[in-house]
Amino acid sequence: MSIQTCLRCKGPCIHHHHEGVIIDRCSNCGGAWLDQGELESIIERRESVHSSSFVQETLKQGKAGLPDEALSDKLPCPKCSETMKVINYAYDSGVIINICPSHGVWLDSKELERIEAYRDHWKKEATKRRAEWLNLSNPGAPENATSGGLLDFFRSLF
Ligand SMILES: [Zn+2]
Ligand SMILES: [Zn+2]
Repeated sequence: MSIQTCLRCKGPCIHHHHEGVIIDRCSNCGGAWLDQGELESIIERRESVHSSSFVQETLKQGKAGLPDEALSDKLPCPKCSETMKVINYAYDSGVIINICPSHGVWLDSKELERIEAYRDHWKKEATKRRAEWLNLSNPGAPENATSGGLLDFFRSLF
């Protein structure tokens, strides 16, 4: 279900294509309503590339917990009118979002992009670390030539 009015500024929300998902985005302030599951599909697809300065900016703002102003900043869900929960996305991204567990999430201007940048960074880090780990645990790597012992024993089995 789409929304017509921005939860923040009451500006008009228009359909906006983002990573193959149609979201409702306020043409005035850039806030966006995403139905349940839409944020996940956007994150899975995630084709937009963010500049490294934007990623750095996002990471700099990352910290755990909720600022005081976030706790008093409650929005009603546009579908059920229940007060949405305020959460720190991924616990420590520093991106504070409003969420109704049954209906969806409200993201203020740039929050969608910040979530993408955050996820992108950590995905790359994970890939990098995995490569480093594989390299370290590779018995054939020259710098580990002396690790021998048990690894040599296992290799001799094949
Ligand atoms: Zn707005
Ligand atoms: Zn709701």
